[in-house]
Amino acid sequence: MKRAKWNSSPATQTAIRLLKETLPSRWKFLLLSLICMIGVAGFTGALAYSTKLIVNDVFVAGSTFAAWQVAALVVFISVGRSGFGYANSILRVWFDLSISAEFQKLGFEKIIYNDVRKFQGTQPASHMAKLLIYGRACGNAVINLTNEFMTHLLTLIVLIGVMVFQDPIMSLFCSVLFPLIFFMIGRLTRRIRVVATAETLLTGEIQGVGTEAIEGIKTVKSYGLETKTVTRFSNAVTKLQSRMNSLARMAAITMPVMELLGGITLASFVVYASWQTTSLGKTPGEFTAFITAFLLAYQPAERLSKIIVDVQKSLVQVEEMYGVLDAANTENENGDEVLEPVDTKLTLENVSFAYGAETDALQDVSFQVQPGERVAIVGRSGAGKTTLIDLLQGFYAPSSGKICVGDKNIADVKRANLRANIAYISQDVFLFDGSIRENIADGNPGASDQEIETAARLAQVETFANALQDGLDTQIGPNGGSLSGGQKQRIGIARALVKHAKIYIYDEATSALDGQTERAIMEAAIAHAPQSIVLFVTHRPSTLQWVDRVLMLDAGKVAAFETHDALTQNSEAYRALFNLASAETA
Ligand code: ADP
Repeated sequence: MKRAKWNSSPATQTAIRLLKETLPSRWKFLLLSLICMIGVAGFTGALAYSTKLIVNDVFVAGSTFAAWQVAALVVFISVGRSGFGYANSILRVWFDLSISAEFQKLGFEKIIYNDVRKFQGTQPASHMAKLLIYGRACGNAVINLTNEFMTHLLTLIVLIGVMVFQDPIMSLFCSVLFPLIFFMIGRLTRRIRVVATAETLLTGEIQGVGTEAIEGIKTVKSYGLETKTVTRFSNAVTKLQSRMNSLARMAAITMPVMELLGGITLASFVVYASWQTTSLGKTPGEFTAFITAFLLAYQPAERLSKIIVDVQKSLVQVEEMYGVLDAANTENENGDEVLEPVDTKLTLENVSFAYGAETDALQDVSFQVQPGERVAIVGRSGAGKTTLIDLLQGFYAPSSGKICVGDKNIADVKRANLRANIAYISQDVFLFDGSIRENIADGNPGASDQEIETAARLAQVETFANALQDGLDTQIGPNGGSLSGGQKQRIGIARALVKHAKIYIYDEATSALDGQTERAIMEAAIAHAPQSIVLFVTHRPSTLQWVDRVLMLDAGKVAAFETHDALTQNSEAYRALFNLASAETA
């Protein structure tokens, strides 16, 4: 039982895991670093010892030859100590950066591949802030636990060796200090873990609040929310500031206590030394070496106490990083079949879905869409349109029922294959920083230049791109900052067209286009893929006039699935939804 105890704390387990995962692949650098650590420790010990020669041979004996010898020795020691110290600090930075970078990349990969649900209700910026902080903490913890810790420990051991060699009794007296120091640090670390956890959360919060405000700057200004935003931000910063202050106060308490203990020891030593020299005839050189070793030992001892505090703080964040890395990928498990290459029908059979314990967002939804059919999906806000679209793309799995493309249940189809066969075009088109051409090519990395240009022509991207200096190669800035909403939507449509998908989903994707342009683009798009299924989530009456059928959802259920004309004639709810007069159909 006792044996298991030393590694039973979560912090120790995290530390062991971190070292096991990062050190073996870097063993060569670790070895080099160990040589440097031994070098630093050895030369520091030699420096302390050399003071004995300075005092006894140079000052007491008064030999000029000895003075030259000792001077040369001191230069040699200084060169050795600083050389190893320099190499050691370079290695330390290398370890720190390579480990931080490794964890930041792993963490990002993990969250990007995970379920979309992981991102709901959280600020993207706080995800990123935490990832960067956690990554840096991993690098920091490793160097503190290895290089920093070992360098100072070895130096301390060598200096204690010099002290014991010069005066065992006084060394024994000094050794009382160590348990005292470690007792004090032990008490501190528990408090530090609590404060450090809060610090990480608060840093994420600050990034979140700030980014949210900047992303929504127009809303902030038009509603006069500047003061509210600034207050929220400054409250978060002040909270962090006070946490950081208490963390710093706790960490800093180690220093004055150690200085006080050091002072008392030094004072006792002066009294003891004068008694020893006068009554027992000890040489002054021996005392100088002892005192130098004692004073030099102060720095590594202090660093060690700080390292223990720092490590505690980093380990809290390392645990958070492992929380990210170990999180199960909750994206629904899919099979490894692939869809048939021909265009096929889409069938939903009794599909239900609930987000949590709440009532079903979709209840018993069944319908079938034929290849080449154009269907509008309509319904009041909250009817379940977005949920349906998300299920089709495999972001969530139905709680019951099945969705089939052709004869294949999409739950049995490889996720990548399913998504390669579905093109989703949203209202808020997300574009990457790059050229228009690159953004269109994102739809299908294998698309030829000709395919890209055809798609750009059909989606009327060319009409505005031709007026730009670099045409399709024009850089559009982060998220297409230099383009209008309608231009972004046209690029979004072109990106979908190069995909040659079985199912196209236009989710209010033409909302920023005028009715005429929308119609022209949609007709061209449909003619480009005549056998594909096209679904439009829309609130626009004009769209309804040229689709084949309309699927009306109401409170998660299929309220109707008919032609626009039939619905206009027969459904009061449909007419109310689009403000249509029943006479219009006459
Ligand atoms: P629509 O797109 O038609 O406006 P949604 O599919 O977004 O409707 O929403 C259907 C229902 O599911 C609504 O009652 C909505 O409140 C609920 N809902 C949507 N998204 C979530 C979510 N992430 N968590 C919990 N409930 C949700």
